[in-house]
Amino acid sequence: MIYLDHHATTPVDPRVLDAMLPYFTRHFGNAASRNHAFGWAAEEAVEQARSQVARILGASAKELIFTSGATESINLAIKGAAEVYAAKGNHLITSAAEHKATLDTMAALEAKGFRVTVLGVDRYGRVRPDELEGALTPETILVSVIHGNNEVGTLQDLAALGRLCRAHGALFHVDAAQTVGKVPLDVEEMAIDLLSISGHKLYAPKGVGALYVRRKNPRVRLAPQMHGGGHERGLRSGTLNVPGIVGLGKACEVAMAEMSDEAVRVGALRDRLFEGLQAALPGVALNGHPTDRLPGNLNVSFEGVAGENLMSGLAGLAVSSGSACTSASLEPSHVLTAMGIPEDLIHGSIRFGLGRETTEAEIDRTLEIVITQVRKVREASPLNRTP
Ligand SMILES: *Cc1c(COP(=O)(O)O)cnc(C)c1O
Repeated sequence: MIYLDHHATTPVDPRVLDAMLPYFTRHFGNAASRNHAFGWAAEEAVEQARSQVARILGASAKELIFTSGATESINLAIKGAAEVYAAKGNHLITSAAEHKATLDTMAALEAKGFRVTVLGVDRYGRVRPDELEGALTPETILVSVIHGNNEVGTLQDLAALGRLCRAHGALFHVDAAQTVGKVPLDVEEMAIDLLSISGHKLYAPKGVGALYVRRKNPRVRLAPQMHGGGHERGLRSGTLNVPGIVGLGKACEVAMAEMSDEAVRVGALRDRLFEGLQAALPGVALNGHPTDRLPGNLNVSFEGVAGENLMSGLAGLAVSSGSACTSASLEPSHVLTAMGIPEDLIHGSIRFGLGRETTEAEIDRTLEIVITQVRKVREASPLNRTP
């Protein structure tokens, strides 16, 4: 099997695993135990990880709280802000190209009486700054936007969007699950107030994440969504997942050191894949922005090819298609739909997600498999027979 689904999850980097292992056995203490060395060792490791995560965002360690992943961080950021600032207004803004964690959180708040504006996106999946500006009102509490799209890889111009939010007094939350450790981020330059991180998208384990919460200019307040022992400054109670947190910190340290080289290497493999497909096959269309996108993302549509026929022949490849299988029906991706991609091209799309361990040999083998399958499906399809 060739793994090209790094937007879904990534393997744990061996260096990350090595850093974590002592915290399962020898240093198993509870970071909240103040009375003995077991607790102190765990707490010290957590604080080191907090600094490592802060550094990759240009934030200070006190501004980070650990969670179980980006879904929890997104829920805490949006619901927590909506609750605290409800007296200011009841309006929230997001985009049609968000992850379900954001869209469903917004829908839950809408059901509770908040007004939610879902901005459309351009054909690359980007929010248009002028449309955001038109939607902002004095009642707008928060704007939530995805940084790197998990389907098409397109990157938003965060600095432009952040400036507008700041000017209109709305909080700016960024879903950076796909971009932390892949492309540069800076919460000051981009005027970000809240930012969600997922461990398992950056070579740390599943079940750990973080939320950046700005502490000054402005100081962001959130209502906790999990109550208990008052961990994480009262924002997220629950005994800390010390090994996971250590892993997330280490993953950020590794990514910070290697991000720029890795982006060049993975980006070149991605280009090799796209150019190989284009050279061998007619009717290959790129979905997403041609340049402003994640280095490891390639989302392409094959004209005249039905998704289920395409995927069935890719047995040796771990990739995703543009249609999500919901029970019996094939539902077209909401992101590609929002970008205006026709439904037949959505069903004929594949998302390749390259990552740290992807090799050139794997890309060449992938080209063979995909080219063979697309040709086979096109030859068998009545759509492609001239009448
Ligand atoms: C994976 C992902 C999430 C959810 O993250 P979890 O840590 O799995 O909860 C949210 N947003 C985006 C863009 C993602 O890719």
